[in-house]
Amino acid sequence: MTGGKGTILLIEDEPQMRRFLRVTLQSHGYDLIESPSGQDGLAQATTRNPDVILLDLGLPDIDGLEVLLKIREWSQVPVIILSAREQERDKIRALDAGADDYLTKPFGAGELVARIRVATRHKTMQQVGQAEPVFILNTLRVDLAGRHVFLKDAEVHLTPIEYRLLAYFIKNAGKVVTHTQLLKEVWDRHT
Ligand code: CA
Repeated sequence: MTGGKGTILLIEDEPQMRRFLRVTLQSHGYDLIESPSGQDGLAQATTRNPDVILLDLGLPDIDGLEVLLKIREWSQVPVIILSAREQERDKIRALDAGADDYLTKPFGAGELVARIRVATRHKTMQQVGQAEPVFILNTLRVDLAGRHVFLKDAEVHLTPIEYRLLAYFIKNAGKVVTHTQLLKEVWDRHT
């Protein structure tokens, strides 16, 4: 975050829509990164580390759903879909693909800002959770203080390197971790 309420990446090809969102979001104290295509949006998502992504489904190069699936390969950043597609099955597909929320165009500025607030609140809660000594994800439970890993209540024995790798990923959930960082933080730590 850069002093304001957070940085929002807007992936949307329609200039009028971008203008409307720019005015709305900036007046509410958000920093905005604008991207007019799927490929560019993916690049911005990787390099700029936004707090929330607003994603249009109908993009000129690749489908918004494809963009969402690619983002979800490495990031849990909140994604709110903005789309003119009203069919329920499109919403379900987007939510199944990992979207946090879905707004059908046209939507009001107040509703959008409220949804962004909810999405970032969830993210903040997750971050608080990560700082706690026990990490839980589905059937995986990692006691970071005691260095115990459980899967469905059965303890899993990991080598020290495997454990450090897992713990490092948990502490950096939702962030891009580079090869160099891993080598430094996981392998070099005790040498
Ligand atoms: Ca569009």
